[in-house]
Amino acid sequence: MSRSKKMLGCVFVIAVLAGALWGAWKCSSPSVQPFSSLRPQGGQGSPDLTVRFLGAGTLSFDDGETAIMEDGFFSRPSIFSVLLMPIQPNEQRIDASLRSAGISKLAAIFVAHSHYDHVLDSGLVALKTDATVLGTKSTANAVLGAGLPPERIKVIKNGDSFLFGQFQIKAFETPHSPHPTSPGFIDHPLHPPVPEGDFKVGENFSYLITHG
Ligand SMILES: [Zn+2]
Repeated sequence: MSRSKKMLGCVFVIAVLAGALWGAWKCSSPSVQPFSSLRPQGGQGSPDLTVRFLGAGTLSFDDGETAIMEDGFFSRPSIFSVLLMPIQPNEQRIDASLRSAGISKLAAIFVAHSHYDHVLDSGLVALKTDATVLGTKSTANAVLGAGLPPERIKVIKNGDSFLFGQFQIKAFETPHSPHPTSPGFIDHPLHPPVPEGDFKVGENFSYLITHG
């Protein structure tokens, strides 16, 4: 092989390695920057109503007077730590995310189910924002373990409806995607750090949010 071909081969290998390292770094440390906001168009609804996607299953809704949130998952431990070690909320990342989204107070956090990528941070986010958490019995046990007092936790049933300011949250029990990991229920308060597998799915809920 000629010298120039060897050089070209080396450059190619280095480029592939650099790309793989960059990809691994991006996958293990996803961004926590807010993505986008949605404001109602055409004069309908409150002009101050904002819906913001904050990554994973986390959405925030704010009408200028009341703010509510789905899930509240910001720690996003890397896939390596999820697979290899017990996980816990990353308080620094939670604080940075809430600050970057301009969120200091929430009336409610409603949680879909109790896998770690929904509920890991819900209790701590509720503590930091004075929120009440709505969710299943398994979710209740997860946020109890995070130190949220029982009076700030509402265990929901299919068809339950809650009013926070002008937001109405209606809960519907719906299936998780097929063959969920960590089947079963969280039957005792979870005190992290715990293995990812301890965040058992419990039941799953979808929510209909209406305003005004
Ligand atoms: Zn899940």
